Amino acid sequence: MIYLDNHATTRVAPEVLGAMLPYFTEEYGNAASVSHAFGGRAAKAVERAREQIGRLLNCPAEWIVFTSGATEANNLAIKGLRKRAFLGRPSAGGRAEGSHRTSFVTNAIEHPSVLDVAKRLKRQGVDVTIVPVDRNARIDPQQISDAINPETSLVSVMLANNEVGTINPLPEIGRICRERGVLLHCDAVQAVGKIPVDLQRLPVDLLSLSAHKFHGPKGVGALVVRRDGPRIPLEPLFDGGGHEQHLRSGTLPVPLIVGFGAACELASDTVPRQSTVLRDRLWQQLQAELEGLSLNGPPLAERLPNNLNFTVADVDGEALMSSLKEIAVSSGSACSTAEPEPSHVLRAMGVSESLSRASLRFGLSRYTTEAEIDVAVAEVVRVVRKLRA
Ligand code: PMP
Repeated sequence: MIYLDNHATTRVAPEVLGAMLPYFTEEYGNAASVSHAFGGRAAKAVERAREQIGRLLNCPAEWIVFTSGATEANNLAIKGLRKRAFLGRPSAGGRAEGSHRTSFVTNAIEHPSVLDVAKRLKRQGVDVTIVPVDRNARIDPQQISDAINPETSLVSVMLANNEVGTINPLPEIGRICRERGVLLHCDAVQAVGKIPVDLQRLPVDLLSLSAHKFHGPKGVGALVVRRDGPRIPLEPLFDGGGHEQHLRSGTLPVPLIVGFGAACELASDTVPRQSTVLRDRLWQQLQAELEGLSLNGPPLAERLPNNLNFTVADVDGEALMSSLKEIAVSSGSACSTAEPEPSHVLRAMGVSESLSRASLRFGLSRYTTEAEIDVAVAEVVRVVRKLRA
């Protein structure tokens, strides 16, 4: 089976695995055990990874707070701020501070680890605005601006969407947030390793990323907390030993963190340009063979280089997915498999429920080959023709 579901997760790169292995077998010290050399070497490995991540994102290593992944990073960013800013506990100075700010602004195509947090905040009495998107899944910065009110403490907008690959205008949204004195959180999970993510240029205050989306291991990610401006009033989600500058207690998963750093190193030296060429070839060949395919999301040149998402007319969505035996693709977001609902992103774009179900998401990786794309084309063509016959 050919793996083309790289928005869900990616294969661990051999270089990454190689870097991690010694930290399972020989260098198994606790990075917080400062009293002996095992701990010292583990701590050094963690700090080296922090530097590698900082280099990829063009930010100081001290801004990086390790978490278990982006779900946790997104929760920490939004709920961690909520404790002080939304609940209005007065704190000392800073842009987001001031009491009783109870409004949060996000948008309809975020990942559930942002949208479900928004729903919870709403149940708790926070004024939540979910800004809509247009039919190409684009967010209008003006609508974000209009949604901000004097009570708003935080805006959250993803850099790139995990289903249709839209790249959001974060520079403009960031400028608006700064002008209005509101903090900006950005889920950059799908962007890191695919398009440049440069924190010297990107005016965001908090940024989430996850190693397993770019050939690192599962179970590790980070929240980047900007520290070159007023202090961001974050509180940890849980209490413990005070690791990670008191923002994320818990013994650091040294092998995973080493792998995360190695994946960043890999991502910075080879831009996966080939993905774009293969993705474009996939779409051209499918269109040449089949009628009734419609692209979901923005034009290919304006989206993530490894993303393709389209709807197949005149086929049953479930039959389509269950008949594709040779390729691993997704019909929506794998992140919400607990509820087999049609994709909330496609629905927000105005795609009907049944057409949403008959949609396919392809995610290519640096390992995808031309031969695999040819097999994928043949498989989709075979299945669609059979179902339409
Ligand atoms: N945000 C986006 C945009 C994602 O695609 C994902 C993973 N599906 C997440 C957050 C969650 O990341 P993690 O798996 O590291 O919790």
